[in-house]
Amino acid sequence: MLEDTSLRMTRQRRVILEELRAVTSHPTADEMYEMVRRRLPKVSLGTVYRNLEILAESGVVLKIDVGGTKKRFDGNVAVHHHLRCVACGRVDDVELDPGVDLEALAAARTDYDILRHRLEFVGVCPACKAKEG
Ligand code: ZN
Ligand code: MN
Repeated sequence: MLEDTSLRMTRQRRVILEELRAVTSHPTADEMYEMVRRRLPKVSLGTVYRNLEILAESGVVLKIDVGGTKKRFDGNVAVHHHLRCVACGRVDDVELDPGVDLEALAAARTDYDILRHRLEFVGVCPACKAKEG
């Protein structure tokens, strides 16, 4: 994984990174485009897409794939998990007890060398719960 400093930071790339790190909403590329456009009115959707992919490939941001919907991006690269609302699609963070090492558990119970794992929680968010009454 590359450090921020080894990735060439164009102004566009820096603005995209700043905007992504400023939110916890896990925006899609289209939502990122709307956010970035307020600061860089001439930026194109393609440029935002391309830069998000480069930032994700460099490990500076996370590209998260939740529920087979559109790819979402996360400026928080620390270990954490996600909850997705089945009603409105919003994605929130959930931090689990770091003492539970799922990969170590899986490795201990199989002959696999574990590389990574995916874990997604699905539910109904507080706002949707309130609407349902
Ligand atoms: Zn919801
Ligand atoms: Mn997150």
